[in-house]
Amino acid sequence: MKTLTADVVVIGSGPSGLSAAAQASEDGAKVVVFEKANVSGGAANMGMGPLGIGTKHQQDMMVDIDVKSAFKEFMEYTHWRSDARMVKKYFENSADTIKWLEESCGVEFAGAYKYFPKSHETWHIVAVNGGIGRNGGAIMNKHIREYAEENGTEFLMETPAKKIVKSDDGKICAVIGTDASGEEVRCDCKAVVIATGGCGDNPQMIKERTGYEFQKNMFNFAIPGLKGDGIKMAAEAGAGTTPMNVEMMYILPNSDAGPDCIPAVFMQPNLLVNKLGQRFIDEEQMQNTTFTGNAISFQKDAIAFSIIDSKIAKYYMKKGVDVVNFVHHPDDVADFAEAVDNSIANDNPDVVKADTIEELAEKLGVDAEALQDTIDEYNDMCETGDNLFYKPSKYMRPIEKAPFYAAKFRPGAYGTLGGIKINEDAQVLTQEWEKVPGLFAAGTDTCTIYGDSYMFLMPGNTMGYCINTGRFAGSSAAEYAQED
Ligand SMILES: Cc1cc2nc3c(=O)[nH]c(=O)nc-3n(C[C@H](O)[C@H](O)[C@H](O)COP(=O)(O)OP(=O)(O)OC[C@H]3O[C@@H](n4cnc5c(N)ncnc54)[C@H](O)[C@@H]3O)c2cc1C
Repeated sequence: MKTLTADVVVIGSGPSGLSAAAQASEDGAKVVVFEKANVSGGAANMGMGPLGIGTKHQQDMMVDIDVKSAFKEFMEYTHWRSDARMVKKYFENSADTIKWLEESCGVEFAGAYKYFPKSHETWHIVAVNGGIGRNGGAIMNKHIREYAEENGTEFLMETPAKKIVKSDDGKICAVIGTDASGEEVRCDCKAVVIATGGCGDNPQMIKERTGYEFQKNMFNFAIPGLKGDGIKMAAEAGAGTTPMNVEMMYILPNSDAGPDCIPAVFMQPNLLVNKLGQRFIDEEQMQNTTFTGNAISFQKDAIAFSIIDSKIAKYYMKKGVDVVNFVHHPDDVADFAEAVDNSIANDNPDVVKADTIEELAEKLGVDAEALQDTIDEYNDMCETGDNLFYKPSKYMRPIEKAPFYAAKFRPGAYGTLGGIKINEDAQVLTQEWEKVPGLFAAGTDTCTIYGDSYMFLMPGNTMGYCINTGRFAGSSAAEYAQED
């Protein structure tokens, strides 16, 4: 067995583990990180940036949001089914964290942005080649890791932690893992921070803890290795458990790697129907991926069909889409029709094209008469106004001209939320709300602040929560470990 010693062991090196390690080592603790994968960064390597409130970027861009207004809006949104002390501390520290990422870690931000028109400009997008690009999260993670290493943090890659060891007096005393060669690694320590990112890659645990069934009514990102290890190890070490949820969105399950123009067009606020051929949402909400994911998950077989006609397609191909966002960037929707043909030729089951409504209904598995009735009613409302769900008239475009196009949306999730009970200092609590001495946790393993639905009106929220709670956990753990 290989043995090491540290003040603080961090388990997992996504944004929460990296921030915990960087903060604890900045605070003078000797830190060792156990990481299961061969790269650090976790799910955030695919993301674009964290939330900040009251930052200099917002001041520069004259964005009118402060901690007080954000806190009030957030707590009303969650109906106060949330840890108010944690929300307050997270928001209050978020501007300092953006500054810390810039000044201490060397991260560069392109600015503070909305995700969709009705959201706030809280999303601090990491600059990619000096501007906006995808996967800036990976750049940010690299910088946080370098800063942690500069402060003396040691990373054990491909070394999943298996067990948190307690001494006879109930105090945390070590973490045991296994390295890539199969050799056991033990790191004696005084404090542990758990930050393993939830259980997105564990369908059984998702079903048990959230009720969703993978590939049936939930098509979440299953990032390899996110098996719920930290949640299980915490429970074994005495942690209380919290309700769990998913970070809801909606998705074309087979089209993620395809051209952006397909989701960019089908996520526009056009006709969206369920398997009964009925509308079920004011489609303006389609830019709020949480609300739309929620609504789809309530429908028969948890599926919805976005339908446009060739006139709408041509309009978008010529003029661009109605609503833009940085994730499904619409610049190249000019090749939409060609991309759909290619997708269908490649047997992509998410996308459908038909010459008649009857044929479209058959391909979607929807009753043709019901779909025709909905389309007739919808087309009438394009003239008179949407008296069903009050969608703004500017988005009411009739479905008239063949060929017709449709895409099959399903509920999805960026990952799971919650599992380990903590307080606002990221100290792990038992079911009886007592502190487990020396045990701390951060990130999505602990995140229950959104109530029943992810708060997408303030984008960057999960990464923001992860980095801020990572810093809280890092400083609490360093302080605890250096007490005597
Ligand atoms: C496509 C995509 C885009 C996103 N974009 C954004 C965005 O722009 N803004 C935003 O706010 N959020 C975004 N998110 C969500 C955000 O990335 C996650 O909420 C965040 O990464 C969670 O951080 P974490 O540190 O808690 O866990 P993770 O990032 O999942 O990291 C967990 C780490 O723990 C490791 N691990 C697991 N088990 C063990 C073990 N037993 N021992 C050691 N290590 C272990 C894993 O290998 C992993 O490296 C996005 C998510 C996805 C999937």
